[in-house]
Amino acid sequence: MSQPTKQRTVVRGATLIDGTGVRPVENAVVLIEENRITAIGTTQSLAIPEDAVVIDGTRRFLLPGLIDLHVHMFTPQFISFPPKGDLMAYAGLICFNNLRSALQAGVTTVRDVGDYKHIDLAVKSAAERKLILAPRIFASGIGISMTGGHGSESPGLNREVDGVEAVRKAVREEIKAGADWIKLLTSHRSDFPEFSQEEISAGVEETHRLGKKIAIHAANLVGVRMAARAGVDSIEHGSFVDEESADLMAKKGITLVPTLWVKNFVPGLLEKMQEKMKAEGGIDTSIDDESTQTIIWLRRCLAQLPKTIALARSKGIAIGTGTDGVFLEQPWAVLPEEMEWMTHYGIPNMDVIVSATQVGARVLGKAEEFGTVEKGKLADLIMVDRDPLQDITAFKEVNWVMKEGFVVPQSPEWSRQTVQSSGKWMQ
Ligand SMILES: [Zn+2]
Repeated sequence: MSQPTKQRTVVRGATLIDGTGVRPVENAVVLIEENRITAIGTTQSLAIPEDAVVIDGTRRFLLPGLIDLHVHMFTPQFISFPPKGDLMAYAGLICFNNLRSALQAGVTTVRDVGDYKHIDLAVKSAAERKLILAPRIFASGIGISMTGGHGSESPGLNREVDGVEAVRKAVREEIKAGADWIKLLTSHRSDFPEFSQEEISAGVEETHRLGKKIAIHAANLVGVRMAARAGVDSIEHGSFVDEESADLMAKKGITLVPTLWVKNFVPGLLEKMQEKMKAEGGIDTSIDDESTQTIIWLRRCLAQLPKTIALARSKGIAIGTGTDGVFLEQPWAVLPEEMEWMTHYGIPNMDVIVSATQVGARVLGKAEEFGTVEKGKLADLIMVDRDPLQDITAFKEVNWVMKEGFVVPQSPEWSRQTVQSSGKWMQ
C-alpha cells in the first residue's frame, strides 16, 4: 500500500518578518507540511512541490501568529446586563465568540491569567477537542489572593487564602484542576503589599516544584520587588520598577507584561461613565468613589510608565504583549492596540513584533514550538497588506491566518472592530 501523501501548503512571494528580529526577507517561500514549517527560502532558492496548495503572498507581509499574554475570558462584573437563564451558559457563548474573533484577527495563542469558575479550563478542553475555533490557550484557573486583597471582591474569579501552607495548597488545587499557569495577586491601587514575601515565595516555589509557571499581578513598586525576589516568571502591569528590581528581573529572566492599552483606555472610559451617571442624575456614590480611585491610580501609573519602559529596555528585560481586555461583550481582539501603544512608549516596530511573537512563546516555555517562522516550528502564520515596520497599525487589518497549518476561515459576517468604535461601554 502506498503511504498517504502529506498535505503540503506553500505561502509564496510575501515579505517575511519571522519574529526573531532579523531583517525581512523579500519574495519568501514558506513550505508547510501538515502542521509544521518544513522549509523556508525565496522564490529563487526554493522549488515548490507539485502537489502543494499555493497561497499567494505577493505584496503582502507574512509574520508569526500573535500572542496575547494577558486575557480574561469571562469576568461577571463586566457584563452590561445579567442574562436571562444560566450565567455560565451565557459566559461560554461570550468565550466562544471572543476567542473566534481573536483568532480571526491573528491571535493564535492566548494566556488566560485568571478566570471565573474555571471557565478557561472548560473552554480550553473545547478548543483542544476542536469544538470551537480558538487560539491555543494557556490557562491559569482561578486567581489566588489574600483575604481582602485585590481580587477578593470577585469570588469565583479569585480565591482568598492566607498563610504559606494555604498558598501552597491553593497552587496544588489549581494545578490539580488543570491549570497550566498560576496567577497570584499581590497588590492593588495603593503603595502597600498584600501577601507577605513568605507567602509569595512559597507560591512561586511550589508552582515551579510542580513544573508549572507563575504570573504575579504587581501593581505597585513593593509588589514588583517582592515578585522579583521570589523569582516569578512574569510580572503583570508592573508600572513601577526601580533599578534594584530591574536588575533582579534581568538576572532572573522575568518578563514584564505592562498592559499599556488597558491603562490608557480605562481612565477615559470611567470618566465618560461618571459623566453619563451625573447627567442621568443617578450617582451611585460607592461606584463613583471606586471609579475615581481607579482613575487616580491609573493616572499615577501612566505618569510612571515611560520611565519604567525605558528602564526595562535599558536592562534588557523582556517585555511581553498582553491586553488585559475584559470588556466581554465588546470586541476582544485588542492586541493591535497594545502593540500600537508599545510604539508610543518608544519601542521600535520590530521589537514590538518580536514581543508579540517570540517573547510571548518564550514566556510560555514554548519557544521551540511556535512564536517564530522557522523550520520545524508549528505553522502559526498571519498576513497583512501594509508594512508593519512602517506602520504598526497594519495589525488592525490581519486578513489571513493559519494556525498549525489550518487556514482559519474569515466568516463573512465578522469584521474586526475596535473597542472604541462601538457598543455599550462608550455610549
Ligand atoms: Zn488582568
